[in-house]
Parts: sequence; C-alpha cells; structure tokens
Amino acid sequence: MSLYGVALMPLASKMREAIPDALQPWYCDDAGAAGEALPNARCLDFLVKFGPAYGYYPEPRKSYFICKAEDEPAARRAFESYDLEINYSRGQRYLGGFIGSAQKKEEWLGDLVGKWVSAVKTLSVVAERYPQTAYAGFTFCLQNEWQYVQRVVADTGPFFEPLEREIRLNFLPALLGIPPAEIDGGYRQLLTHSVKLGGLAIHNPVDTTHGVHSASLAATRHLTVSLVCRDTRFDLGTHRTCAAEAGQAARRSRLTDEQLFLDARGRDNPSVARRDKRNCAAGAWLSVFPNRLNGTGLSADEWRDNVRLRYNHSPLEMPAACDGCGAKMSVEHALSCKTGGLVHIRHDDVADEWRHLCGTALSPCRVEREPRIFSSVSRRVQTAACSSAHDSSTPTADALHPPAVTEERGDASCHGFWARGRTTIFDMRITDTDARSYRKKEFAKVLEQHEKEKKDKYLQNCLEMRKDFTPMIYSVDGIAGREARNAEKRLATHLASKWKREYSQMVYYVRVRMAIAVVRANSLLIRGSRDRQRPRRPLIPDGAALGDWRTWSDR
Ligand SMILES: [Zn+2]
Repeated sequence: MSLYGVALMPLASKMREAIPDALQPWYCDDAGAAGEALPNARCLDFLVKFGPAYGYYPEPRKSYFICKAEDEPAARRAFESYDLEINYSRGQRYLGGFIGSAQKKEEWLGDLVGKWVSAVKTLSVVAERYPQTAYAGFTFCLQNEWQYVQRVVADTGPFFEPLEREIRLNFLPALLGIPPAEIDGGYRQLLTHSVKLGGLAIHNPVDTTHGVHSASLAATRHLTVSLVCRDTRFDLGTHRTCAAEAGQAARRSRLTDEQLFLDARGRDNPSVARRDKRNCAAGAWLSVFPNRLNGTGLSADEWRDNVRLRYNHSPLEMPAACDGCGAKMSVEHALSCKTGGLVHIRHDDVADEWRHLCGTALSPCRVEREPRIFSSVSRRVQTAACSSAHDSSTPTADALHPPAVTEERGDASCHGFWARGRTTIFDMRITDTDARSYRKKEFAKVLEQHEKEKKDKYLQNCLEMRKDFTPMIYSVDGIAGREARNAEKRLATHLASKWKREYSQMVYYVRVRMAIAVVRANSLLIRGSRDRQRPRRPLIPDGAALGDWRTWSDR
C-alpha cells in the first residue's frame, strides 16, 4: 500500500501544479480536494485523464462532493461541464473521521457509539468468566477505536455518554465483581488512570475527547501548515519531531493530572496514600495480553482476586475461617498462614519460574535446584577443633564452642549469571508489605529490610565459596526488591542476546513473568485447601469398621 502511495507521488505533484487553487490532501491512494466546485471538478477530470498512466483509475461514481444544499446546483453544473457523474452529499465519512453538517455528524456518531455500546455489552458478558481476556480486549483494542474517532473529529464528548454509562453500569461491575453503586466519581476517576498511576487504564470516553483531539491537532500541525500554506515545504524530520513532542506533552500533562488527583486523595488518609503508592509500583501483570505460549494467562479467580486486592475489596466468597488453623480468615491471614504448606507451594512456584527463566536464558544445565550454602571456613575450624579435642586432654576454647556449621540451601544457582565462570546463588522470599507489623513502613523499606536479612545470613558464606549471592524479594502484589529488579535486568540481557530481541522488551518480559508467578499464588493462598491433618486412609486395617458401612441401597 505505501509503495503504491509512493508511486503516485508524481501524479499528485503534477495535479498540484496544474490546479493550484484547490487544496489537495492525499492519504496513500485516497485522493481528496477541497475548495470551490470548479477547481474540484478539474481535479477529478485531471485524475480521470492522467491517472491511468500511473496505474490510478478513479471512479467518479464512487466519489462524493460534500456541500451545503444551496451550493449543490452550482456544483452540479461544474461537474457536468466536465462530463463527470458523482454523488452529492451533506456529510460523509472520510479517512475514519467525518466531514459535513452537524446533523449528519450526529447521525454518524450515534450509529458508531451504538455499535461500541453493544460491543462493551458483549465484553461485559465475557468478563464474567474471562475477566483477563475481556480487560485486554477493552484496553488494547476496543478503547483505541473510539479514541481514533475522538482524535480526528472535534467536539464529540457528549455523544459518548451512553458508552460511559455502559462501562460504568455493566463492564466495570462484571470485571471487578462489585455492584455498580460502589463505583462513585472518585473511584471511577482512579480507574481511568494508567496502570503506573494506580488505575486500570479504562478511560472515560466523555472526558478524553478534548485532550486527545487537541493532542492530535498539535501532532499534525506541521503537516497541516505544509498543506495549507504554499511557502512551507513538508519535511519528514520536522513532522516526526512535531508528532513526538506533542505526544510527550500530552502524556506529561495527563500524568501530572493523575498524580495531582492521587496526592489530593491521599492527603488526609495515610492508608489510602500507602495503597495508591504501592499500586503505582505493582500492576505489571495487568498490562499484558493473556497468552498461553508466553505464560501470561491468569484464571478468572486469579485475575479478579488480585484486581480486588488492588482496590481494597476483599476477595469474593472468601471462607469465613481458615481450614488449616481455624483462625478467622482475613486477607492478611490467608497470605501468611503456614499451615497446610500453601505458603511453601507459592515460594516453590516463584522459584520454579526463576529457574525456568534462567535455564531458558543461559542453559538448563547451568541451573541447579536448591544449591547448598555452607561455610567452608566454619566447617574447617570445627573439624580442626574436634580433632584437637581428640588429640589433647585439655580442650581449647575453639573445641568447647566450635562455630556452627551452616548447611542451608538457596533456591537456585546459576553458573555465569553475573560474571563468566562464576556461580550465583538466589534465594527467594515473598512478603506481605501490608501486614500489620509493616503498616508504618514504606513498602520499599520493607523489601530492603528483607534483602538485608538474607544477605547478612548468606552473603559471607557464598563469597567464601567464590560464589555470588542475590536475594530475590517480592511483595505479594508482585513488586520486586532492588536486588531482584537488578537480577531481572541481567537476565533480560542474557535473553536479549540469545533471542536477538530488544533489551527493553526482554526486561518487561522477565518482569511480567515473575510478577504473574507471584500474584497467581495469591488465589491459591486465599482459596486453596490447608486441610492436611485428616487421615485419608482407614485407620483400622483389618476391616473391623465395616460394621458401620452404610450405603443408600442398605436402607
Ligand atoms: Zn490459618
């Protein structure tokens, strides 16, 4: 298509020279002309005559002349003088936008919005069982369709009210599993924010119209001036800079507004401020397509539970009491109760993900599961102390109190991770930064504290063995600690060179994979069975209990 457009450039330039009094915008092979009727008729005549030589065959019967009713007779005379039969209209769709009277525009937009409303209705039904898919379909695809129209057509805000109503009354409640009445103005505003500023990027189509249209005008300013003003020549470099600058400026102003809203929201409420801050850092798992081949899919429960936790709703149908220890069930208890081994399963699952990614990036044989971390120095001292105790009758101080030999295990070791020929040991920990004991601390400080604990415990021993040690600390909502973030970046470099991909893309890939592994486990901890105590096999092996055997047929 673009090659065809380039091939038509000589035709377009010749027409511009031959008929200078008509404005002639082209989009690839889509020719247009604006101005009075006569020059427009000459343009079409020119194309019919000279187009075929360039492989361009215009069809006047499929072309439209848009004018007011009172101008139509003059226009007809102009086109008929060139023997051209075309259609006359009060308004027509043009390149995804619209040109014409206000009434026609209203009809056209009404139809479009109606289609989108029914599309959102369908997505609301999908969202019940496949919330992640519905969310991705909405944010990555559907929403961009109306944003395009808002960009190219001015003053469309009020037309989008039915759409916003549908989003607020049906789509959001289905997605989050809450009644529509709970989505008030401030909450809806928060959900329109980008994921990085605590929202879900589900924009309010009524509010976005003005912003996206003025950003689009600013982005195309050089293009418009070069079309309208004959002294300005079009320059691709200038156009690109103009478009990029306008895009950045619009983004900056949107982010500033969102930040101001968050600041105002958390001013009198420290717990809301804390949550908002954490939500800004978490949420990498929200901004990907669910894809089985990339391991980015979450089940309906997993996705909805995590979104509900993000906005401080307790998970749907949460059990009243913990089936492991009998305590009253709360989110905090669910995420930390060790009974039944679910916490352990979560830990293993995240470690598995990391081992898998390391194996993919380097080679599976370089990765070891649960490597031993022991101190060779303390072991040597202990051995020496024991043998000296055997040899002499008066034991030395070392022999009386030999240093403890640590025989801990890390979660993964990877050869050649930070440096060639050197092994790195990783140890995972997933912590609830919202737990009662941490409520007065920033989440970053909590992660830092856990990193320090791990390093105090293992770093020296690892260095003794000429190995590196990296603590991998994650919060339950998938925020990585500083060391883990650096390790993710390093892994991304390995992956980028192996798969020959952009580094930035790989950083995001690793980050999302790890965040998904962490948040996926939250549902398990909330809903999984902790009941490991009850015996599953009969207690009396000789069948004596069969005296109590009853079935429906024995009544
Ligand atoms: Zn419990």
